[in-house]
Amino acid sequence: MAEFDYDLFVIGAGSGGVRAARVSAAFGANVAIAEEHKVGGTCVIRGCVPKKLLVYGAHFAEDLKDAQKFGWQLSEQPSFDWPTLRDNVLKEVDRINGAYTDTLNSHDVEIYHERATISGPNEVTLASGETKSAKYILVATGAWPHIPEFPGSKHAISSNEVFHLDTLPKRVLIAGAGYIANEFAGIFNKLGSKVTLINRSDVILRQYDQSIRDRLLQISMMKGIEFRFNAQFENIERNDDGSLEVRMSNHDPITVDQVLIATGRVPKTDGLGLESAGVELDDGGAIVVDEYSKSNVDSVYAVGDVTNRVQLTPVAIREGNAFAETVFNDTPTTVDYGCIPSAVFSHPPLAAVGLTEGEARNQLGSIKVYQSDFRAMKDVLAERNERALYKMVTDADTDRVVGLHMIGPDAPEILQAAAVAIKAKLTKADFDNVVALHPTMAEELVLLR
Ligand code: NDP
Repeated sequence: MAEFDYDLFVIGAGSGGVRAARVSAAFGANVAIAEEHKVGGTCVIRGCVPKKLLVYGAHFAEDLKDAQKFGWQLSEQPSFDWPTLRDNVLKEVDRINGAYTDTLNSHDVEIYHERATISGPNEVTLASGETKSAKYILVATGAWPHIPEFPGSKHAISSNEVFHLDTLPKRVLIAGAGYIANEFAGIFNKLGSKVTLINRSDVILRQYDQSIRDRLLQISMMKGIEFRFNAQFENIERNDDGSLEVRMSNHDPITVDQVLIATGRVPKTDGLGLESAGVELDDGGAIVVDEYSKSNVDSVYAVGDVTNRVQLTPVAIREGNAFAETVFNDTPTTVDYGCIPSAVFSHPPLAAVGLTEGEARNQLGSIKVYQSDFRAMKDVLAERNERALYKMVTDADTDRVVGLHMIGPDAPEILQAAAVAIKAKLTKADFDNVVALHPTMAEELVLLR
């Protein structure tokens, strides 16, 4: 008789949890996973995937306009139907949810479609009341939108609800100036909504290079997105006609049809029973783990956003993989958090890897900065007055490229490839040694002066 029901019980079937479950099972572990929502987690169900599809959908607004400069005559004025895009996106989400479930099934991972909480270092309790024992418990419950407390906050939605709207709001207020706020500002703006973005401070995308965020701010304003800085919510009231009256500090009240709050995401540890196993949390509610994702309790591990290390899907996947290697393949594996590329799928998108100019100056002292400020060929013909900006930061002593920052069409696609060179510690001379591939936007990277 086995000592435990399972070798591994995973709580949360998001990116990190699914990867850990699947790989552990492939190493021969007897694995179960519990998920109270759909299999796939934030990225697949209410994050990266549906968001990127909305970004594609929204971009047609510009493409259809620009097409006319390339000779295309549209026989009638194009119109947009939100329910069609929404429902097709949700259908795709369902398809991926099915694919994730199939993967777990094909690896003989037992799926419990219900909430699970921890009731001891080796025990979980399912919503049905049933308990299961496991040699190891992996918490991969992710993070949840943070909603600031103020009167009327119940009238606002978060990124959880935004994919399900009945109608496209004519006027939308977005709070926050990070990833989600800027991505949805671009989506709603392109789909025809009047967008106002408010933030508590006077910066957007604080962690990105200043030149790149200034460029996004400038282009976003040119597109008609209104920014209100140093603005904190005072209250939201619903008017008789269903619209929302929003009052905020330092600015006039505004009437909108929808308020989207995107002010960060907090680790989802509330009510998980972690205290019953004695698992240590930090001040922000994240599970404290070591480099192998192990908590202070030997049988309890955690990966992904619930540990608040780097809130990005590919990082959670790596952590899930490293956990399986460490615990079930006898190969202690850590995750290398250096040089992680990231992108914001705004309109236009931006992407970065490595140190910003400011960080490099502080850390290295002597740096060189190379820039290309240009209009993409397609935008010139389309008379679209948007300039792309590529910026490379190098260590002046070694010539090593320590940061790359880009905004412009397809910036994330181009940066992913260039990130290999940065991670491999290549120098500016190595970039210059490569012959340009003409005519592309990416060729700017080997022609930087
Ligand atoms: P971000 O951390 O990107 O941005 C949060 C924004 O909200 C900032 O502008 C911040 O202001 C503001 N803010 C933070 N706390 C408060 C508060 N208490 N009250 C009012 N405003 C506040 O969060 P998001 O919600 O946009 O995204 C959450 C996470 O999801 C991101 O960190 C990212 O890791 C991930 N994500 C990644 C995406 C991608 O890879 N493309 C896309 C979407 C999400 P200030 O800067 O002034 O402090």
